[in-house]
Amino acid sequence: MSETKIKKPRGRARYLEGKCVACGERCASACPVDCIAINDAGEPVINEDKCIGCDKCIKVCAVNALEMFYTSAQLEQLKLWEVQKSAVGEELEPEEKALRAKLAEYKGVWVFIEQYAGEVAKVSWELLGTGRELADTRGVELTAVIIGHDIDPLRTEAYGYGADVAIMMDDAVYANYRTEPFTDALCHLIDKYKPEIILMGATGQGRDLAGSVATVVETGLTADCTGLAIDAQGNLAQTRPAFGGNIMATIMCDKFRPQMATVRPHVMKASEYVAGCKGRVIREDFAPKEESVLVKVLEVIMDKDGKDQVDVAAAEIIVSGGRGMMGKENFSILQEFADELGAVVGSSRSAVDAGWMPQSRQVGQTGKTVRPKIYIACGISGAIQHLVGMQDSDVIIAINRDPEAPILEVATYGIIGDLFQIVPALTEKIRELKRDQAA
Ligand code: FAD
Repeated sequence: MSETKIKKPRGRARYLEGKCVACGERCASACPVDCIAINDAGEPVINEDKCIGCDKCIKVCAVNALEMFYTSAQLEQLKLWEVQKSAVGEELEPEEKALRAKLAEYKGVWVFIEQYAGEVAKVSWELLGTGRELADTRGVELTAVIIGHDIDPLRTEAYGYGADVAIMMDDAVYANYRTEPFTDALCHLIDKYKPEIILMGATGQGRDLAGSVATVVETGLTADCTGLAIDAQGNLAQTRPAFGGNIMATIMCDKFRPQMATVRPHVMKASEYVAGCKGRVIREDFAPKEESVLVKVLEVIMDKDGKDQVDVAAAEIIVSGGRGMMGKENFSILQEFADELGAVVGSSRSAVDAGWMPQSRQVGQTGKTVRPKIYIACGISGAIQHLVGMQDSDVIIAINRDPEAPILEVATYGIIGDLFQIVPALTEKIRELKRDQAA
């Protein structure tokens, strides 16, 4: 007797209060049944009676501000549906069966730990935080892949940031990063252990290595992701700005493994470091011979004398200026304000294009991604390309004379008025408070 076919239940899309960044009604445009209206704050209001649970709005949302809500009865049905679906594997087309079997060979989430002379790029710890969430959702192990020379102490750090396993490749040939030996090393590991997901920092090294490895193992790579999640089928949903930042695209690599993604520094949040964590170690002795590597590192020259020493991405407080600053000379009022706060001065692209600030201070899609404790935007309208670079700051303060400026939609505090009055007044107030404290 044939078993009754269980239908996949359809939930209802639900808005997660406070998470919307008013990106421009992408969820509403994606909805095939027009059940999403946008309120004055730019947030979605979902008509649950009309929603058909297709999850299109959830997929287009770059900041995971929507989720699929199931009743407890539907959740039960969903579980039964999943069980039945996996049990009827033999009814699948042969190609589909072969594909599923191939994908099933790949398990685990890997993070490539970028290091130079034993010092790890912070983005790698941030990615372990994201990797932990993805691995928990998939019910698999999180592995830190550490390639270098004299790198043993790094695995303890990796466990402290959430890794279950550390794969160590320690050899003199890996002392300095070079594309060829690192690509060979990572491809060897992929071939041997078959991870389903690999994350790397979108740094000079990460971008170079990820592209090279993805080409050799013939899989997809999504660069500069701003959101990573696991979809209902267990695939990695990789969200990033597309078409010049005008839309957020969610990219899937559901027919190839591993699924590879790079993420810029400060986009994801590192987990809290927990000292004393233990994990499993795998030591791999695969190493190409030095004679076979064509590129030689003759000398390493550190960029200590760079013109602009300020690293806006690492600052805990940033005071940024935009076109509203009206001229290069006016940035001195921001500098004074920043000096009192112990902050650094950043800027929008308009201020960079106008020659008021160096490109190294630009925040946004084509500038730096920042995640400071406090971000103060002065005379910045809040275009999506700027928002993607700063919207994850802990506290956002926007000073703008336009009460309709989009930056106010992501701001924790908005001050409406003329920045040329407000900024000097705030600077003076801080000085006064400091004087009072010193007295
Ligand atoms: P505007 O949009 O002109 O806003 C100026 C604001 O100042 C206004 O809101 C105004 O009300 C306010 N203002 C004016 N005078 C005062 C005053 N006296 N007091 C208070 N408020 C005042 N932009 C980035 O920032 N970073 C990027 O990385 C970036 N990358 C991009 C990539 C691409 C592919 C593209 C197409 C664009 C990119 N942009 C980027 C540009 C972006 O689209 C916006 O043009 C830019 O962010 C606008 O800068 P702004 O907010 O300083 O200027």
